[in-house]
This record gives sequence, C-alpha cells and structure tokens, in this order.
Amino acid sequence: MRVLAVASEMHPLVKTGGLADVVGALPAALKAQGVELVTLLPGYPAVLRAVAGAKAVKRYPDLFGAPARLLKAEGLLVLESHALFVRDGGLYGDATGTDWPDNLQRFAALASVAADIATGDRKAFRPDLVHLHDWQAALAAAYIRFGPADVPSILTIHNLAFQGRFDAAQFPLLGLPQEAFGIDGVEYYGGVGFLKAGLRFADAITTVSPTYAQEIRDPAFGMGLDGLLNERAGQLHGILNGIDTDEWNPATDRLIAARFSAGKLAARARNKRAVEQLFALQPGEGPIFCVVSRLTWQKGMDLLVDALDALVAMGGRLALLGSGDRAIEGAMLAAAARHPGRIGVRIGYDEAVSHQLQAGADAILVPSRTEPCGLTQMYGLRYGCVPVVARTGGLADTVIDANEAAVAAGVATGLLFDLVNAQSLRAVLQRAVDLHADADSWRAMQRAGMRADFSWGRSAARYAALYRSVLAARG
Ligand code: ADP
Repeated sequence: MRVLAVASEMHPLVKTGGLADVVGALPAALKAQGVELVTLLPGYPAVLRAVAGAKAVKRYPDLFGAPARLLKAEGLLVLESHALFVRDGGLYGDATGTDWPDNLQRFAALASVAADIATGDRKAFRPDLVHLHDWQAALAAAYIRFGPADVPSILTIHNLAFQGRFDAAQFPLLGLPQEAFGIDGVEYYGGVGFLKAGLRFADAITTVSPTYAQEIRDPAFGMGLDGLLNERAGQLHGILNGIDTDEWNPATDRLIAARFSAGKLAARARNKRAVEQLFALQPGEGPIFCVVSRLTWQKGMDLLVDALDALVAMGGRLALLGSGDRAIEGAMLAAAARHPGRIGVRIGYDEAVSHQLQAGADAILVPSRTEPCGLTQMYGLRYGCVPVVARTGGLADTVIDANEAAVAAGVATGLLFDLVNAQSLRAVLQRAVDLHADADSWRAMQRAGMRADFSWGRSAARYAALYRSVLAARG
C-alpha cells in the first residue's frame, strides 16, 4: 500500500510541536506494516538543506503567484517555492508571532499540490491514499473532492486549537468552485476554514487518543467544531501516539546518572540524588514530584501554583522544569523562594534535565485541563516516575489509576484525578504521598508502568488497519 502523508512539520527536519514527532515516526513504523509512506513537506530552509541535490520531478510555473518545483528525495516530496516558504522568522508567522499575511496561499499551495500528486504522477508518486495532518494539509481533502484525483483521504487532528481560519473574501484565491463555499464545504462561521474543510471531506478522521476523540464532540472541548465532529462520529477514531523507545530507554540513556530497568530499580536512587543536587532539594522521606511542561493554563500550571504550599506541608518536594506564561513562571519562582530545599524551579527548555527528572523523581505531575495525547506521562511510565495526571484525553488512556482494586491486582500504574481544580489537585497529591509511604505498593506501580508498551508499533498497526478499511470502503 502506498500512502502520501502531507504535513507542515516532520522531526528531525522541522518541528514546533508533537505533530512533527508523529509525522517523523510513522514512516519507519508503517514500513513494518507493509505501508510505503512518502511525506510531502513545504520547502522551508531547513528542509531544502536536508534534500540538497534532490531532483525536480514536477514544475508549477505559477503556484499561487510564484514558480514552484516538486523535489523528490528518499521518502520525501518537497514543495520548493522560495516566495512561499523561504523567509526569516517562524513557520507560521514572523519573529513577533504575527501570522504571515499569506498563510492562506502558502497552505493552499501545499494542499493543492498534494491533490495533484494524488492524481498519480508517474515521476512523483502514485498513492493509494493520502494522510493529511492538521489544518496546514487539511484543504487537500477539498481539492481532491473537487478535482480529478480519485483516492481516499484521512485527516489527523493533533491540535484542534489551530484551525486555519481566513476571511471569506479570500475564498476566490483558492481556485475551488463556488459550490465548495457553503456550510457543507469550506465555509466556517462566515469565513474560510481549512481544518473544517478537511473534517467535512476526508473519508476518515483521527485524533491522537480515544478519550480526546470523545471529548472533542462536546461543546466544552470542540472549539466550534463539535457539531461537525458529531455528524462524522462514525468516521472519527482515536489512535494513541507512541513514543521513541530508543531515545527514552532507562537501560541505555546516556543523559542520566545511573541506568536502570524494572528488574534493577534500586539503581534509580542515584538518579534521585542527582535530582536533589540539581534542584537544591534537601534529602527527605517524602516523594519528589517533578514537572516537565509548558507553564500554561491548558497544562493546569496555575492550579499547581495554588497547591504548592499544601504539597510542601504534606512532606512532598517539587522539581520543576518549564517555561511559558510570565505570571506562572514568577509564581513558581516565588514558591521556590518561600520553600528553599523543598521546591526547586528551573525556567527554560532542557532536554537532558527532562531525562534526569524522569529518571530520578518519584512522580510526574500532569494536571492538564485538556491533553490530546501527552508525552511526559508515557516517558514517566517508562522511567518508573509514577504519573499523577488529570483524567482527560490521552492521560486518561495511558495511566491506570491506583484505586484499591487496581493496587490489589497489581495493575495500577499511576494516579488519576477528576475535576481539575486546586482542591482535587491537593487531594490527589495527598493520595500520592500516602501511597509513596507504602514502598511495596509504590514499587509495584513503578514496575507495572515500566512493563507497558508505548512503542510506535502499536499505533502504526492501528493506522494501517484504518488505511485498509478506508480503501475497502471505497471498493
Ligand atoms: P505539548 O506538546 O502540549 O507541550 P506533550 O506532553 O505532548 O505536551 O509534549 C511535550 C514535550 O516537550 C515532551 O517531550 C516534554 O518532555 C518536552 N518538554 C516540555 N517542556 C520542556 C522543558 N522545559 N524542557 C525539556 N523538555 C520539555
């Protein structure tokens, strides 16, 4: 089976978020499922550097106002358009964070070229199916629907918050027939909606966890798209992301003080001492909680601020690594100043420290208000760093709560809490402190988590099964 993936980011070439990790991991994982995946990317400078010397297989003399070429490299097709994709600044906006004024043209170009490839160009690629990722690729489903290509499409939502909305006056620029602009087309609340169009025309829709797939059908989570998502509920699937189990392997990790495994948990103690040193924490009996996160409202970090005095009063300690909202950063630093030796805070992004925290802390806190999938709780499970997480999205799908039955059966892997507010957060922290005091139960929880499988193989098998069922439905 041949699949054309279309995305704006792909690890390790270009990345601003989790989308890039998924797009980067799927080709190898799907190969093992008998799927040949070729990924179409915009020719950002970093992408062009990576495919230097690649052959042009197609030319577009006038693609949204400028000449463009399609370059072919190993597993990649790159849309080279200097006018659209080569510029200083971010992928989607300038250095100040203002969206590029021509984002409609930029990603309509990507989508229309995807639809063109889908017609089966001999030199480029002949896909059986196209797999679109997020709003930047979503409009391809509309170009396919109103064009000559006859292949099914799948759209994956990585983040419903980014929808690709534009003014209705720009609709004629897309080159789609007028009939495409309507409630059953690309029209979205009086404007143009790229993600909305994809959700309307794709043969199937996926998002990155089963619980999030349910949640986004609710107005509280649906961000304006819940109505359409409900209409298409029969074609909406949740497929959990995997993690890179080579990069995140406590038995081989070079970034941590002592390597360990489920059978050799005692070696973890050295990593705990390293965390104490790095975050200037006093040694103690109570658990060290850690946080590795963007410091934002979505992540529930404002609630954590309100629970910190209580956390310390319970005998817990906190090592926090993150950056984000200035107000939350300031409040975390203030808490560290109030509780020297009990709370340590590092503002910034640091890959090595993130590994060291997972390897040495007792528990990782993820009190998100929403979480499509989430990665840090899966890293925590793999490193014996017990996740204490809100029951939402992918967090709910990856952690088994330590209720009495689960503890007795030896299957608990972490702690879940409902109703994300300061009070429920304090309650779950107390529950974690109490459980941690029972060393045998805690160790059993660590081991159960370390046995769980979050490799990409499982996700890839589900994507491959979906590809097959979508193709079968087309006959
Ligand atoms: P989101 O994509 O919403 O930020 P995820 O949990 O899906 O949340 O992914 C976050 C990723 O970024 C994880 O790999 C996490 O380890 C990493 N990360 C977040 N903040 C930091 C930080 N301050 N330093 C190092 N890594 C971080």
